[in-house]
Amino acid sequence: MASLELENLHVALEDGTEIVKGVSLGVDPGEVHAVMGPNGSGKSTLAYALMGHPAYGITQGRILLDGKDVTELGADERAQRGLFLAFQYPHAVPGVTITSFLRSAINAKRKAAAGGKEDPVPIPEFRKDLTAAMEQLKVPRELAQRYVNDGFSGGEKKRVEILQMAMLKPRIGVLDETDSGLDIDALKIVARGVNSLVGPEMGALVITHYARLLHYIRPHHVHVFVGGRIVESGGPEVADKLEAEGYQEYGEAA
Ligand code: ADP
Ligand code: MG
Repeated sequence: MASLELENLHVALEDGTEIVKGVSLGVDPGEVHAVMGPNGSGKSTLAYALMGHPAYGITQGRILLDGKDVTELGADERAQRGLFLAFQYPHAVPGVTITSFLRSAINAKRKAAAGGKEDPVPIPEFRKDLTAAMEQLKVPRELAQRYVNDGFSGGEKKRVEILQMAMLKPRIGVLDETDSGLDIDALKIVARGVNSLVGPEMGALVITHYARLLHYIRPHHVHVFVGGRIVESGGPEVADKLEAEGYQEYGEAA
């Protein structure tokens, strides 16, 4: 069984409309899986349901993380167990600096790992990790003291999402359209960040409309996602084919 296992996952909106119609896949540390689908196919719905967003109800199937069923758990518990979602549209958190946000998130995770006992990260260790991650992801230093995503450019938001992932060290990182709104330099920085994080400790599920990002993050497995279902799975050649031919063959406009 893979580290993240989706078993016949069905997801419906609050009005009952089913958007994700039976998705099964497994992601292990060291692996990059790409889910590629046209606009409106339900990619973000899948990502939100994975993270436990209350507006996206799992009506059938389950989500397993390292063998444990997390389908009924809240977003915070899933995060503590090592799931991380980089959002397509990151929210601003006025009043909370990046630094304090990251420290609280890390400490919440450490507390959960210590069985509910406070175990705050030592400040020098935190500073050292943060500085290293910011340098690697070319996040300007002054951003650390700004409020989370408040007035950030599109590229800054995406880099800060990857910075959070680097600091939180999840088992599985889910990236929803992390490429949209990025120029080519920012795209390369983000991709380099993801590539350096994927390894024995972390796997990634990269959700995207375009094959562009996949030139820089080479996936091991590509799943074509149309109308809420995986309609084809294969290796990186599937992404190349999609880039050349679009989604027409699956009955969708390119
Ligand atoms: P994708 O990310 O592949 O573009 P989404 O998951 O965002 O697709 O959307 C899939 C479908 O679900 C769309 O028809 C969208 O309008 C609808 N949808 C998603 N979230 C909501 C929501 N919160 N309220 C109403 N409709 C939604
Ligand atoms: Mg989306």
